[in-house]
Amino acid sequence: MILIDGKKAAAELREELKQEVAELKIKYNKVPGLTVILIGDMAPSQIYVRNKEKSANEVGLKSEVIKYPDTVEEKTVLEKIEELNNDESVSGILVQLPLPKHIDKQKVIETIAPSKDVDGFHPMNVGNLSSGYESSVPCTPLGCYLMIKKIEPNLSGKKAVVVGRSNLNGKPMTQLLLKENCTVTITHSRTKDLKAECLEADIIVAAVGIPELVKGDWVKKDAIVIDVGINKTENGLVGDVAFDEVSKVAKALTPVPGGVGPMTIACLLKNTVECFKRSQI
Ligand code: NAD
Repeated sequence: MILIDGKKAAAELREELKQEVAELKIKYNKVPGLTVILIGDMAPSQIYVRNKEKSANEVGLKSEVIKYPDTVEEKTVLEKIEELNNDESVSGILVQLPLPKHIDKQKVIETIAPSKDVDGFHPMNVGNLSSGYESSVPCTPLGCYLMIKKIEPNLSGKKAVVVGRSNLNGKPMTQLLLKENCTVTITHSRTKDLKAECLEADIIVAAVGIPELVKGDWVKKDAIVIDVGINKTENGLVGDVAFDEVSKVAKALTPVPGGVGPMTIACLLKNTVECFKRSQI
C-alpha cells in the first residue's frame, strides 16, 4: 500500500512554487501578493492564518494579514475588499471563514474579484470550473486532485465516488474528476447504500466529517482512497476513513493527519501564483 505523504507532496509543491516565484520576480520585477482578512479571535482561524502567512513567506510571496475584531461592521469589510480588488500589488484575497453571524458570508465571497478569489468560492469561479474553463479551484479538492494524479496520471474512464457534496469539498472534487474523464458518483447523507456505491469505486474521496465512516469492506482492492475528514475524537484526530482496515485493501491512502491537510495550504499558494500570472497577461 502506498501511504500518500501529504507533508512531502506539500513540501515539493512549495519548492516548485518558490522557484516559480523567483522566476516571476526576475520577469516582472514584482512578486505575487496574498492578503488574508481575519475577523475575530477564534483560535483555529488564528492558527490557520498564521500557517498560511508562514508558508506564503517561505515561497517568497508578499503576504499581509488584515485583522478586525468580531464586532467589525460588514460594510467595513466589504469596503476593504473593494480596496484590495483595486490594489495591483494584491494578487489573491482570502477571507478566513467562519465569519461572525452579522456578516453575510455570500456577500463577502461575491465582493472579492473573481480574478483574486484564491479560495475559488466566487460563483464565477464555481461556474467556470463546472463549465471546464480556467478558474481558481478550492484549495482542499485541488490538493486531493494533485495527489491522486501523482498516483494515477491517467484517470480516464476510472470510476470515482465522492462522499459528501459540500461546496467546499465534494462538489468541486466532482468537477475536477469529471474533467479528467472519470465516471463520478457524488454521494451524501441521503444516499441509499453508500457501501455499495463505494465498492464500485477505483477512487474514493471522503469529505464528510464522520469518524471512520468508510470501512475496509466498503473498498475495492487496489482503490485509491483520499481522506479529507478531520475529526477530533478521544483517540485524537481521525479521518472519515477507517485507516487500519482500509490500508489493508487500498492501493494508496492518505493518512490523517499528514495527508490532505498540508496540501491545502500549498494549494492556496499555488492559486495565488496562478492569479498573479493570469493578471500579467
Ligand atoms: P460539510 O459538513 O459541509 O459537508 C458534509 C457532507 O457530508 C454533506 O454533503 C453531507 O450530505 C455528507 N454526509 C453527511 N453524513 C453523511 C453520511 N452518513 N453518509 C454520506 N454522506 C454524508 O463538510 P465539509 O466542509 O465538506 O468537510 C468535510 C470534512 O472535511 C470535515 O471533517 C472537515 O473538517 C474536513 N475538512 C478538511 C480539510 C483539510 O484541509 N483536510 C478542509 C476542509 C474540510
